[in-house]
Amino acid sequence: MKKDLWIGGEYRKPASYMELRNPYNLELLAEIGTADVEDVQSAISAAHQAQTIMAEMPAFERAEILEKVAGSLKQDREECARLIAIEAAKPLKAARAEVDRTIMTYTFAAHEARRIHGETVPMDAAPGGQGRLAFTIREPLGVIAAITPFNFPMNLVAHKVGPAIAAGNSIVLKPASQTPLSAYKIAEYFHSAGLPAGALNVITGSGSKIGDVLLKDERIKMITFTGSPEVGTYIRENSGLKRVTLELGSNSALIVDDGVGLDTVIPRIVNGAFAYQGQVCISIQRIFVHANLFETFVDQFVSETQKLKAGNPLEEDTDISAMITRGDVERTKEWVDEAVNHGAQLRFGGNSEGGIFQPTVLVNVPASEKVSCEEVFAPVVHINTFTEFEEAITLVNDSKFGLQAGIFTNDIHKALRAAKKLEVGGVMINEIPTFRVDQMPYGGVKMSGMGREGIKYAVEEMTELKLISFKTE
Ligand code: NAP
Repeated sequence: MKKDLWIGGEYRKPASYMELRNPYNLELLAEIGTADVEDVQSAISAAHQAQTIMAEMPAFERAEILEKVAGSLKQDREECARLIAIEAAKPLKAARAEVDRTIMTYTFAAHEARRIHGETVPMDAAPGGQGRLAFTIREPLGVIAAITPFNFPMNLVAHKVGPAIAAGNSIVLKPASQTPLSAYKIAEYFHSAGLPAGALNVITGSGSKIGDVLLKDERIKMITFTGSPEVGTYIRENSGLKRVTLELGSNSALIVDDGVGLDTVIPRIVNGAFAYQGQVCISIQRIFVHANLFETFVDQFVSETQKLKAGNPLEEDTDISAMITRGDVERTKEWVDEAVNHGAQLRFGGNSEGGIFQPTVLVNVPASEKVSCEEVFAPVVHINTFTEFEEAITLVNDSKFGLQAGIFTNDIHKALRAAKKLEVGGVMINEIPTFRVDQMPYGGVKMSGMGREGIKYAVEEMTELKLISFKTE
């Protein structure tokens, strides 16, 4: 199968193609169009032309288009889950959950489209402001470039395309090279739903080669990026005065306080650490357990981890499958071995077979190890201990990242102290840091990024606030 570029409401042939392979068995899935500079420019031109139509389209029509896309996803739920499973090696159970979340994301976007509004401004609160009626409105920004990662190929596209369309913008979408099929599928759904030609364009090709065209073109008003901190930093430094939102990585931490009942929380924590091979930006990477519970916690955690079944993402009972590239398997092995050589204890896993890295549990890992201080983005978790609660807070905050953190505790005072002191975008009390529903504000501090997603918040980022003042006297 050959997949061309989606520009101006139709597939256009590019000059060349790249191979797309299944990360689990390396089978050829498709040949994917590789955009060159001219292709990217024509996608931007198409989006620019469609911009006026989008800006004039009434809110109810934008909402109806988004609802139709949600409807198509519902109808084709299984087909979409299989697409995610084969191109991202995401186990079917998790792929179905992603499709369900994508439906919610577009549904929330449809709701938001109907309620974008401004506010009245009391101008007479300032001397000289009297005799005026003033209010704000929110206008679309124009053309938005969306650059997305491989790990949630449908739902993270939805978190950009959904609010962009809700707000009346047009889009050039550059999905990750490993997961283009999900993005093209979404473009087809929007086309069938009646989105005007050019309002959504999908271009594929290596981000490091074509990204600069998006960053430099003045017709693009905003870059919304989800991906690694390295690429995010590059985008921020090279986008001039464009608005930029960055949803980047983390090494998310969880505190388990004394007195917490482990039987109910451990299966959930294991899931938060190893779901989709740990390739989730809020995957649990660091667990800090009170010394009184530590040994019991580690034993129960390991026995729960042993239950996970590794295998083909298309098999119903698979919990863990291949990492996105063989290179990531090697990198993970190096980081784990390095930690063990520096004194960490390996309690489970540590090896790989083909593309699958075993779920791996380390204990007593020095904070300077890569598996602790960098984003491991693999099925590797470490469990360390603490005695004083304040110490646990300091350990969590000892990170260059700050996306979400979790804490299990029975003590309301500690919970509230954690809520205040943890340096992250979201604090999950009596919940794992991996928790997310798609309407909540979501984003990080420090190197985890800037700006917020969660449809309402993304709509704010994707609109310009305009003040209108009437002199009435
Ligand atoms: P990545 O390597 O940074 O790639 C993300 C996207 O950026 C891809 O589409 C990539 O294209 C493109 N890209 C690469 N170099 C570029 C450049 N110079 N200019 C413009 N675009 C460029 O990230 P990934 O490996 O796909 O995803 C994993 C990362 O995403 C992790 O760090 C994870 O934590 C983060 N993430 C964050 C969130 C969040 O909401 N905070 C959610 C999910 C994932 P190619 O694929 O063609 O290289």
